[in-house]
Amino acid sequence: MKILVLNCGSSSLKYQLFDMEEETVLAKGLCERIGIEGSRLKHQPTGKEDVIFDDYLEDHDVAVKKVLEALTNAEHGVVKSMKEINAVGHRVVHGGEYFSSSVIIDDAVKEALEKCSELAPLHNPANLIGIEACEKIMPGVSQVGVFDTAFHQTMPERAYLYAIPYEYYDKYKIRRYGFHGTSHRFVSEEAAKMLDRPYEQTKIITCHLGNGGSICAVRNGKSIDTTMGFTPLEGLVMGTRAGDIDAAVITFLMQKENLTPQEMDNILNKKSGVLGISGVSSDFRDIEDASEHGNLRAEAALDVFAYKVAKNIGAYAAAMNGVDCIVFTAGLGENSGSTRRLICDYLGYLGVHIDSYSNSLRGKAMEISAPDSRVRVLVIPTNEELVIARDTKELLDK
Ligand code: AMP
Repeated sequence: MKILVLNCGSSSLKYQLFDMEEETVLAKGLCERIGIEGSRLKHQPTGKEDVIFDDYLEDHDVAVKKVLEALTNAEHGVVKSMKEINAVGHRVVHGGEYFSSSVIIDDAVKEALEKCSELAPLHNPANLIGIEACEKIMPGVSQVGVFDTAFHQTMPERAYLYAIPYEYYDKYKIRRYGFHGTSHRFVSEEAAKMLDRPYEQTKIITCHLGNGGSICAVRNGKSIDTTMGFTPLEGLVMGTRAGDIDAAVITFLMQKENLTPQEMDNILNKKSGVLGISGVSSDFRDIEDASEHGNLRAEAALDVFAYKVAKNIGAYAAAMNGVDCIVFTAGLGENSGSTRRLICDYLGYLGVHIDSYSNSLRGKAMEISAPDSRVRVLVIPTNEELVIARDTKELLDK
């Protein structure tokens, strides 16, 4: 079975084609600047040279068509015909309270997705456009939606209710949803395998630390709390996002600086986080570099970031009444031994001990805790596309 996994943004489209026989990636690629001058498709067939097609991609319909042409291209393709593709799995950002697992997309699902668009105005409309483009261009091929929020639908009310008037939950569904669910699910399942323990009998804290970041408390295979909330702005300090902040700061700043809601939103989402504190960059590599060269604000940014992660790990150890294992994943979590060290240095009270040599390695799933560590610490590369492909296959097999 061959499954195409799509992740559509407002002007981009990422794809991977899987052969599910051995779960191998046949090709992957990225359409950029859809609808904007200078658009292009970068196609990376496994075992062949990468190729760039720079035809104008006026909309997502054209982008999907070009992806299929690239996948079936005589020279650069990896399948003979589009008919070999059995299904398409879509990453969908927001499933609201409608979806607690992946689903085959039909009209009722699309209607629910439209209702969720208000909750994720930048992402869900783009996801829907991708779904509709595939329906047009690949009629009859099953499509599956895999939601970033679904894994967190098991959170209890005490974790998802905000202490604002309840009518706003009723009226607007304002509550905590959580994101990165596909990643938290994947790495926590992998962690249970590495620990050789039944997933249903583990207490795992997963730290997805990339440009966006979130932590999840996974008790007995279910998310019981996570740091992102109504939107992906809540929680950790991120590349450009503020994370948790006293809400009064927002009204104070809007009044002082005469800011519109849009401008305030832009500051919190695009100009804050480690970029805001350091003034250097949103990329942790640049900040680590600046810090090593004596830039004190860069050092402060890393410190604030690590402290916040450590505080949340402590909170989730309390929420689960213990923790067996802490997992680091995503760009920073997988690659930055120094950040992992900064975080774990706070966790001595949990009996966490890091092995310096393992912590300096990269690129594969591994244990970085020392043999005497009371809590095991793992680094596990995330693979959201593989989860989407697996869920799609599972739904089709049913
Ligand atoms: P992601 O959003 O998961 O793609 O993660 C991207 C972020 O990971 C980048 O912005 C970098 O800050 C960070 N990152 C990637 N590689 C490294 C590295 N070797 N050292 C430090 N940070 C890294």
